[in-house]
Amino acid sequence: MGDESDRPGSRETFTKAPAVTFDPDAARPDPIRAHFPGEEPPEGLRAGDLGPAGESEPNIRRALLDEPYDDPLAPSSVRCVACAHRCVLRPGRIGICGVRQNRGGWLYTLVYGQVVASKVEPIEKKPFYHFLPGSTAFSVATAGCNFHCAFCQNWAISQAHREGVVPESRQVAPEQVVEEAVAAGARSVAYTYVEPTVFIEFAFDSMVRAQAAGLRNVFVTNGYETPEAIELVAPYLDAANVDLKAANDHFYRRVCGARWEPVREAVLEMRRRGIWLELTTLLIPGLNDNARELRAMAEWIATAVGPETPWHLTRFQPAYRLSELRETPAATLVKAAAIGREVGLRHVYVGNAPEVEAATTSCARCGERLIARADYAVTEWRLVAGRCPRCKHALTGVGLEDSPLVC
Ligand code: SF4
Repeated sequence: MGDESDRPGSRETFTKAPAVTFDPDAARPDPIRAHFPGEEPPEGLRAGDLGPAGESEPNIRRALLDEPYDDPLAPSSVRCVACAHRCVLRPGRIGICGVRQNRGGWLYTLVYGQVVASKVEPIEKKPFYHFLPGSTAFSVATAGCNFHCAFCQNWAISQAHREGVVPESRQVAPEQVVEEAVAAGARSVAYTYVEPTVFIEFAFDSMVRAQAAGLRNVFVTNGYETPEAIELVAPYLDAANVDLKAANDHFYRRVCGARWEPVREAVLEMRRRGIWLELTTLLIPGLNDNARELRAMAEWIATAVGPETPWHLTRFQPAYRLSELRETPAATLVKAAAIGREVGLRHVYVGNAPEVEAATTSCARCGERLIARADYAVTEWRLVAGRCPRCKHALTGVGLEDSPLVC
């Protein structure tokens, strides 16, 4: 996801953060647990069968979003319902994402608070163009991912389990995420770089605390969340940028090891719940740049998600298992953007391609220029109380009332 400079290689060092007040009883509703393990282990198991989840391994915690799975051949199997793979795990087995394991009949996350990347960056880099423009987000990630995209730029952390890589990490409490975000002046916390669903316990605990501290929460996601996972995070999730990798199952199965339909459903479910959505498509030469398929995707966005939904088209840079491919030609990006506009999308952006970059927001009704950007920064702000200065049409988005530019 994102361009070359999105790689989370360098972690920032933060000065001592101010204390953040958090009342755990104040804002936290009952968490959604498909299966809420009791204090005692299931019948037939010994206490010693339960995996460690103590101070010695603070990254290992009981997982949310699991349910018992009745398999006569493999007692104590569980099903993880965090993402649409819905992995059935026999005791000892680890899910497709590489970071969730059945230990003695219980599902555990193996990466709670085990942060492999954290960084403050413009929200425009995620990319969000209609959500708190001009602000910064504090990005965090653990290892693991439920997709194995052959073009992943963050493969060293997302595919660490497949590639035998052990990423450098630090153990971080959810409170610390919030403290670091506040100290850095961020207005939001972004769960990003890998699919946040795979570290949903840590994300959820951080989101609750971030919201209590006045921060917003955003996901940069592949959209493979189950309805259960969306229900869990929805009260705290303000916005999501969903990668639409293609509009067909063939691409998802062949290149990402996933399916298209659950992504479509997750996008619609988030929309129904009022979570602000922006969509991103990385155009890969010969794989998902077919004009007919792009038109189908754009038409689906325009009709099912809404014509004023921002659609970000970004340039592929050779990476990981697709290192032999060429980068996306400028003409392909221009053509895809034209298709998006032809089918009625009002906010089509082109990124990661300076020669054809389209990063200006125009009025959906009259075309007046509203927000200009350069290098992920807002350079011009013409909105008046969130509206076009010419025709008064309200720009869709969040946090558009006040200019981020200092006069
Ligand atoms: S989050 Fe991981 S373990 Fe759970 S269903 Fe998805 S891939 Fe499987």
